[in-house]
Amino acid sequence: MYTIIQNADWIITMDEKRTRWKHSDVVIEGKEIKEIGKNLAGKYPDAKVIDGKGKLVLPGFVNVHHHTWQSLVRNINVANGLKLEPWLKVVYEIFKEINTDVARAGAYAGLGELLQTGCTTSNDLFYAHPVGVEKLIDAEIEAAAEMGIRFHPNRGVHSKASNIVPPELVGSTEVVMADAERLIRKYHDTSRFSMCRVGIAPNMPQYETLEILEESKKLAEKYDVLIHGHLAESVYETKYTLDTFGCTPARWFEKHGLLGDRFYYAHVVHLEDDEIELMKETNTGVAHCPISNMFLNSGVCRIPDLMKAGVRVGLGVDGAASSNSSNMLQEIRSAYLVNRLTWGDNAVSAEDILYLATVGGAQVLHRDDIGYLAPQMAADITIMDWDQLQYAGGQNDPVDCIVLSGESKLVDKVFVNGELVVDGGRLTKVDEQQKARFVNDVGKAMLRRASTHLEGLEKDIED
Ligand SMILES: [Zn+2]
Repeated sequence: MYTIIQNADWIITMDEKRTRWKHSDVVIEGKEIKEIGKNLAGKYPDAKVIDGKGKLVLPGFVNVHHHTWQSLVRNINVANGLKLEPWLKVVYEIFKEINTDVARAGAYAGLGELLQTGCTTSNDLFYAHPVGVEKLIDAEIEAAAEMGIRFHPNRGVHSKASNIVPPELVGSTEVVMADAERLIRKYHDTSRFSMCRVGIAPNMPQYETLEILEESKKLAEKYDVLIHGHLAESVYETKYTLDTFGCTPARWFEKHGLLGDRFYYAHVVHLEDDEIELMKETNTGVAHCPISNMFLNSGVCRIPDLMKAGVRVGLGVDGAASSNSSNMLQEIRSAYLVNRLTWGDNAVSAEDILYLATVGGAQVLHRDDIGYLAPQMAADITIMDWDQLQYAGGQNDPVDCIVLSGESKLVDKVFVNGELVVDGGRLTKVDEQQKARFVNDVGKAMLRRASTHLEGLEKDIED
C-alpha cells in the first residue's frame, strides 16, 4: 500500500546535495520512502493521496537531549531565576518523589509536544531514580510506543551523593548496571528503522565514581550501545573540575576514556580552542541546547567552530525544567538567533540549523536510516502548512520560513516509519485531553509530596 504526498509546494530533503524539490511528490511504502519526484501519481494509481498544495515537506526532526519527566517540574517559582547548581539543588528535592506515573506522564507531555512540533525521534536521559523505585524507563518506553515516536532512552546513573545529588537518588553500582543491562536486553533494537534504542548515561561523569564509569563503558561495549551525559555545561563545572582534578572537563573526559565515537554529550558550552579539535579527533557527538543554556545563564556553545571542524552536532530541547517546553521549532529558532547574536554575521545559516535538527541529530545517534528524505530512508516526514495568514508574505524561502518564522502552528502532519501520528496538528494515537489531565494530576501529586520537604513549594501549588 502506497501513500503519496502530491504536489507539495516544497520538499526539503536535507540530502547530501541539499536537494529541494518544487511542486513535487513523495511516495511512502510501508515504513520507508519509495520515491521522490515530479508527477508520480500515474505510477501509483491506488495510492492514498495527501494533497501537498500549500505544504512544506521535510525530514522529521531529531531531538538529541531531553529529560521528559521534567515536564512536570516547570514554571515553579522556587526554581526559576537560578543558575545551574542552585537550580539543581531545588529540583533534586522534587526528583526524590519520582515514580512510574511521573515517568509515564513526563513522556506523554514531553514527547507529545515534540511530535506536535515536527520531531519524529527523541533522546531521553533518565538520571533520577529514587532508591527502590523500579521500571521508570519501562514506563516512558511504553508511553513513547503508545504515541508512535522513535525513542532513544538512556539509563541514567548516580553513584555518589553530593551537595546537589541527595543520597535517596544514589544507586549501588550493581543495581544500576543490572537495570541498564535488563533494559538493553529487553528493549534495545538494532534493526533498521528500529523504534527504540537504549543507551547508558553517567549523568555528569566527573561527579560519579570511577568504578561506575568503567562499568558503564564495559556494558556499552558488550552490547554496542551509546553513552550519553552532560559535558562542560556551566562555569561552575569548569571551576570544580579545574580545582578538583587540575584540568578542564573535556580534558578530564579524555583522560578517563570518555570521548569517542560511542559518546555524545549535552551542552558542551565551555571548550578551549584546542578542545574543539579534541571533539573532532575523537568523533564525540554534541547536543546543542540553546534555550536551556539561556534560561540557566550557562553560556553559548561554539556551534560555528564545531561545525567548521566537522564535529557531529545535533539539537536538543533539554529537560523541560530548564527549557520550559519540549518545542523543537522554538529550539530551532532560538539556535539560529543566539548563534547570530553571539558569534556574529554569517556565523550560521538557517539551513545550518535545520541540518543540526535533522541530519546532525541522526549522526549523533548513529542512525543512517533517518535525518534526510531519500528512497530507502525511513518515512519520518513532517508536513508543514505555510498557507496561512501567519506566514503570508514570508513565503520567499521555505527553510527561512521554518527556521526564522516557524512555530508549532506550522506543523500539520507527522509520519514516523510511515505511520501518521500527527494529523491537523493533533496526536492521532492517543486522546490528548485525557493524557493532559493525567499529566496534570500526577504532576500536582508529586509536587504536593515534595512540598513536605522543599520550603516554599507549597506556594507554587496552591489551588
Ligand atoms: Zn540535560
